[in-house]
Amino acid sequence: MGVATTGGDAPGMNAAIRGVVRIANSKGFEVLGFERGWEGLLSNRFRPLTSRSVGGILHLGGTILHTARCLEFKKDEEVRKAARTLELNNIDGLIVIGGDGSFRGARDLGKKTGTSIIGIPSSIDNDVFGTDETIGFDSAVNTAVGEIDKIRDTAISLERIFIVEVMGRTRGFLALTVGITVGAEIILLPEVKYENEEIFRTFKEIKEKGKKSGIIVAAEGIVDTHQLAVELEKATESEVRLSVLGYTQRGGNPSARSRLLASLFADEAVELLSRGEGGRVVGLQNGKITSISIEQSCKTEKPLELNLLNLARRLAA
Ligand code: ADP
Repeated sequence: MGVATTGGDAPGMNAAIRGVVRIANSKGFEVLGFERGWEGLLSNRFRPLTSRSVGGILHLGGTILHTARCLEFKKDEEVRKAARTLELNNIDGLIVIGGDGSFRGARDLGKKTGTSIIGIPSSIDNDVFGTDETIGFDSAVNTAVGEIDKIRDTAISLERIFIVEVMGRTRGFLALTVGITVGAEIILLPEVKYENEEIFRTFKEIKEKGKKSGIIVAAEGIVDTHQLAVELEKATESEVRLSVLGYTQRGGNPSARSRLLASLFADEAVELLSRGEGGRVVGLQNGKITSISIEQSCKTEKPLELNLLNLARRLAA
């Protein structure tokens, strides 16, 4: 079998690699780890992975196989090259650990090779259709919550409003969960249109109720948070500060939940390949480990549970 981490890194990717190698070994398969994502498949760069060589990585963030953005992989000829690498190394099954971009690449590769391909969803953005949660999401949520709890101390002490920008690319999964769990007064998501006037009004009401500080959690996919901070300060006559959390959310030790999900996904992925099944993305749905076709995962946008936004509003009263 082959394994590669092909998307943005997320805490728990190493736990998934470890799981894949150990479960595959226990079923009698040898595993090659392709390096730097799709690049490894284009340049035939890999190293054999054994149950021993993946020791001591379960708790580490990042990915020991490295990953890289590989724009050439969108070209047909390059995908054919990757298919030849699989053939050359007698790879029966390939496990791709990454996000929705990775699975588009996996879908294209699947059309050009006889090798079975399984996707394991891993991304802090949680934007993969077919799974309620991706590996790394829970870790990133916990990192952001830990940082915002500290920011809240300053917000309360200095009676300030903080806008905290969290990651998530074009989607608001991370911002929504983080916003609810830090008790944000306002959550701004790319999926929901908002007017600055509404935000100003909310903070005026909050002030009238006796609250002297507040937190806005904003997804990076919304408009200019710098500009919003300037305008909010003018409108509310409170001190407003912006804090962009940035890449701390991508790194660090995976949470117990991310490690568990990585282990369960690895087990299912190897099981599918050992039965000769490919073209699927494993996932967690309603508490059960399942899988759907890569095609369906790629073409469907994962819905965000917007009723949680109403809950957040009621909780921030
Ligand atoms: P993620 O997998 O975390 O969503 P990216 O969106 O960067 O991360 O995708 C990872 C890699 O998958 C890209 O560097 C590229 O090689 C490949 N990829 C992304 N989108 C496509 C696409 N539409 N078709 C083919 N390959 C793609």
